[in-house]
Amino acid sequence: MTFHDLVVNAERLLADLRDLSVFGRNAGGGIDRASFSAADATAREWLAGRCAEAGLEVMTDAVGNIFVSSPRLEEGIAHHPAVWTGSHIDAVPDGGAFDGALGVIAAIEVLRTLHEAGTGLTRPVRAVSFSDEEGSFAHLFGSSAIARGFGVDQLEAMIGRDGARLAEALPSALTVSLADAAAVGPPPEGVAAYVELHIEQGSLLEASGVPIGVVTGIVAIGGGTVRFRGRADHAGTTPLDRRQDAGLAASEFAVALPALASATSADAVVTTGIMRFDPAGSNIVPGGAEVSVDFRDVELERAIDLGNRIAASASEIASRRGVGVEIEFEETVPGARMNDAVRGAIAGAAAGLGLDAIDIRSGAGHDAQNMALIAPTGMIFVPSVGGRSHSPAEYTRDDDVVRGASVLLRTVLALVRG
Ligand SMILES: [Zn+2]
Repeated sequence: MTFHDLVVNAERLLADLRDLSVFGRNAGGGIDRASFSAADATAREWLAGRCAEAGLEVMTDAVGNIFVSSPRLEEGIAHHPAVWTGSHIDAVPDGGAFDGALGVIAAIEVLRTLHEAGTGLTRPVRAVSFSDEEGSFAHLFGSSAIARGFGVDQLEAMIGRDGARLAEALPSALTVSLADAAAVGPPPEGVAAYVELHIEQGSLLEASGVPIGVVTGIVAIGGGTVRFRGRADHAGTTPLDRRQDAGLAASEFAVALPALASATSADAVVTTGIMRFDPAGSNIVPGGAEVSVDFRDVELERAIDLGNRIAASASEIASRRGVGVEIEFEETVPGARMNDAVRGAIAGAAAGLGLDAIDIRSGAGHDAQNMALIAPTGMIFVPSVGGRSHSPAEYTRDDDVVRGASVLLRTVLALVRG
């Protein structure tokens, strides 16, 4: 058998994806599987077991990234730059069964298929599962450790969604020290290429009736918190024109945001996911109000420009309403352009399988944007039914799962030879 005739085992792929979805499944059908949680530990154990059964080797680094390799395929070439493929197995709270999981299971299926076919590759292939992609402690944590690195002080300061310190969660989950974690970086030999299969998490592919998306780039993301400070007063005795109502300032600000995004560019989006009043009482004028802001655009400069407009708008609304304002935005994270050669390999793989493909950009952040810093990188998208994601309603049809994994296999083969 030549490598060109290889196909993934669809039944095994779908069964593994279903089996992984059991870990962390809650009563409502959603998945609670934050990195370094008990559910994550059992999922890791299961994954390692599946790999061992297939004759594959599993290595976990000091930040929890899992690397899977085939000793048979690496004979004599183990120290050459490898082609990496993967994603993540952690989930957002009450998340779905496909975000990340698809890319990891498909990567393992690709490696297993190659392993069974035997030797003859000119570059090693590694399946990878990055830890804490969803940012229980830090967004894209595992791939950031590889591509950018963390200092011990940065790791010390990380607090999880549930209030736990990474400094406690990581050593107890992995028996490593923070110094070990800070030493994680790219492999000395480099990475030949990285390709990630992921669900679209939007509805463009479904609407276009096309099974494969070739990702062109990942958006830049900025945002943080805006706090309005007014004065808490009695809801009955304080005349409307004497109030310093932080709640109304925050509300006006939130309502104004979409128009600011549209005025910046057709690609820009902005979201207010959290709004809190303080005190929060039905008969109290809010003295303080906190609003979260998440803004994104394909181009970094435009995202930064949008961030500036948002800050200016907050200041204008605050001064007009006689309240104070504090704007705390994190540094806008650059997106990433996908590599032309990897994009070409994906498009060629889809065409070779007779599958239609379109170019598409990613509005969500992915480990691929970190990998793009150290290796030629590309992403394959498959349709999400109804565009739903980060929800128990997240679903990708079996056919699309298999198509995605098939394109991934062909792409990896092209990259291994290329
Ligand atoms: Zn994901």
